Amino acid sequence: MKIKVDFDLCEANGLCEAMAPEVFELDDDDFLQLSTEETTDENIDNVRRAVAACPRAAITLVEE
Ligand code: SF4
Repeated sequence: MKIKVDFDLCEANGLCEAMAPEVFELDDDDFLQLSTEETTDENIDNVRRAVAACPRAAITLVEE
């Protein structure tokens, strides 16, 4: 699946990074960066936790 982030909703609170640091990282300017836009067997559980943790519902998973 594709990992999509609505950057207009994101408030850069870092909760997704706490759940899935292998995918989400806030940079020095507090802008969210994604190391990948693809889910894998390895990251999917943490990515789902990040989706659930985001208080802004800014992260969505899109079936390809
Ligand atoms: S948890 Fe949501 S609001 Fe917070 S940094 Fe991640 S995408 Fe942005």
